[in-house]
Amino acid sequence: TKFEELGLQESLLRAIQDMGFETPSEVQEKAIPILLDKETDMVALAQTGTGKTAAFGFPLIQKINAESRTTQGLILSPTRELCLQITNELKSYSKYDNVNVVAIYGGASITDQAKQVKKGAQIVVATPGRMQDMINRRMVDISKIEYCVLDEADEMLNMGFYEDITSILSHTPKDKSTWLFSATMPKEVSIIAQEFMFDPVEITV
Ligand code: AMP
Repeated sequence: TKFEELGLQESLLRAIQDMGFETPSEVQEKAIPILLDKETDMVALAQTGTGKTAAFGFPLIQKINAESRTTQGLILSPTRELCLQITNELKSYSKYDNVNVVAIYGGASITDQAKQVKKGAQIVVATPGRMQDMINRRMVDISKIEYCVLDEADEMLNMGFYEDITSILSHTPKDKSTWLFSATMPKEVSIIAQEFMFDPVEITV
C-alpha cells in the first residue's frame, strides 16, 4: 500500500514526502482509511515505534477546520517528553496546512502555555495533570472538541491519571470521536474504553 491510497489530502502527502516516509506502517495502513472515512471511536493496540503518532496525527490534521480557531482536537499523553515529541511531529505533518498545535505540560510556565492557547490552538497536546489545572483555571476550553486521542493509555493509567482523565473527558462533548492507543490492554484500559467510547473499531498491530 502507498500513502496515496489511504485517502490523505495533497498537503499531507507533500509533508510526508518531505519527511522521507516511503510506505505506510501497518498501524497507519489499518487506522488512517477508517479514521478518514467515518466518524468513529477506535481502540488500537500498538507499541511505540510503530508509527502510531502519524496513524492518528494525519487523520486528525485532515479533519481540522483550519478556518476556525476553536480547539477541535485534544491529545492526552503520559509525559512531557512524549507531549513535546507528538507536538513536533504534528507540526511537521501540518507544515502545508494552517493548523496550530500547542503543547501543555507541567514543569513549564502555565501563563506562557495559556497565551499560546489563546492565540488559537486547533489541536492541544497535553499531559493530564497540567490539562486539568488549566481547565480549572479556565485557561483552555475543550467543550467543542470533535476528536480526542488517548495516547499510551496504559502508561497514563499506570501513572495514576485515571481521575484526571475521567474529569478531563467530562468537560468534552459527548458526540466527539475518541481514538485510544495503547501497547497493552489491561482491565483499566478496557474500563476507560467501555465508559467513554461507543462501539469502537478495534485494530491490532
Ligand atoms: P511513533 O511510533 O509514532 O513514535 O513513530 C516512530 C518513528 O517512526 C518516528 O520518528 C516517525 O517519524 C517515524 N515514522 C512514522 N511513520 C513512518 C513511516 N511510514 N515511514 C518511516 N518512518 C516513519
